[in-house]
Amino acid sequence: MDVTRHPVASPPVTLPDAKWRHWPGLDRLAEVLGAAAGEARFVGGAVRDTLLGIPVADVDIATCHAPADVMTRLKAAGIRAVPTGLAHGTVTAILGDRPVEVTTLRRDLSTDGRHAVVAFTDDWRADAGRRDFTMNALYADPASGTVYDWFDGLADLAAGRVRFIGDPLQRIAEDHLRILRFFRFHARFGDRIDDAGLAACAARANDLMALSRERIAAELLKLLVARAAVSVTQLMVEHGILRAVLPEIDATGAARLADLAAREEATGIAPNPIRRLAALLPPEAADPVGARLKLSNQQRRRLAAATAGPGPEGPYALAYRAGTESAVDRLLLAGEDPGPIRDFTPPRLPISGGALVARGLDRGPAVAAALHRVEDRWIAEGFPDRARVDRIADEVAGLTL
Ligand code: ATP
Ligand code: MG
Repeated sequence: MDVTRHPVASPPVTLPDAKWRHWPGLDRLAEVLGAAAGEARFVGGAVRDTLLGIPVADVDIATCHAPADVMTRLKAAGIRAVPTGLAHGTVTAILGDRPVEVTTLRRDLSTDGRHAVVAFTDDWRADAGRRDFTMNALYADPASGTVYDWFDGLADLAAGRVRFIGDPLQRIAEDHLRILRFFRFHARFGDRIDDAGLAACAARANDLMALSRERIAAELLKLLVARAAVSVTQLMVEHGILRAVLPEIDATGAARLADLAAREEATGIAPNPIRRLAALLPPEAADPVGARLKLSNQQRRRLAAATAGPGPEGPYALAYRAGTESAVDRLLLAGEDPGPIRDFTPPRLPISGGALVARGLDRGPAVAAALHRVEDRWIAEGFPDRARVDRIADEVAGLTL
């Protein structure tokens, strides 16, 4: 690493224009933070993604001002400021309804693979050096757009090379989550994998066990919907990356994921991380893995339901019984075409138990059972209208009485 290299790329690179740079209030925020004097710069994903010409949702600003000063400056300027993580140096500025994270330059004092103790600094290079990958350590001057690059991130970005800043083994020892981030960013932006990074991740894969399952899940779910999720998952299985934390995931699962992704693409259905996780797991693992990864109740339900198979009644009945979202998951995972039900809103059974009581049934379990029989026939007949349901109810009541 050449520490003497000037951080401005040669020839200089300027951040292209992009929608987010015109967010109301952003120029003012940069001004208040002293951007004109080189005291605040855009950093990270927003710079990276703008250089690639892809949309940006989250904007991060790095500044040499201490968090308390950031709060003071924002308040004095009438900008809403939330002290999100003062100990870690982050203040969230609210521009209209858009949050912009303003983080004070930091360097690591100590790390243990899970947490870092940081000190604030005014050293831009130190802040860049504690970031994970060279392409994530690009900064841009808000007014001129001049890009600052200490670690050849621009060249790596152009080459599609996700490369650790510094020694990969050391960077993974500092923060084990970087193992999964390496694969996630490679799946998004990578072309050829960086061999030193891959070898270090494979060698240290067991370190993932020290992390909370929530953090592993969050990274994995983002990875699963990245551009090259299929090939990268295969690569991770080959190198045993998830063996320690998710031993259920094997080459068969990776092949199922490949099939699912191909069908999603063929049908134009957007990838969904939970559906993709369901493909990756043997069906019986959905429940235990959902619990182990501490997925939300809604995610766990979707994961378990996705593996339940398409059932014998056809896609419309499946959508009625399981909900359209789950029906689409199940059909895709079963290799069937969810086309017919994609925009299907299941109707409601147009009668209730009262209609059967009116036909002479006694209130109680008999009504519920009869209503189920009416519903089954209504589904089997393709959801006919009220007039037909009345006749079905007549027949069912007649048979029951
Ligand atoms: P995304 O589009 O996924 O949000 P991002 O680059 O913004 O991409 P974040 O996880 O939001 O990624 O993190 C913002 C920035 O913070 C990164 O670009 C990187 O510079 C730094 N960063 C985040 N997590 C780590 C980490 N575990 N180790 C080192 N640097 C990190
Ligand atoms: Mg981000």
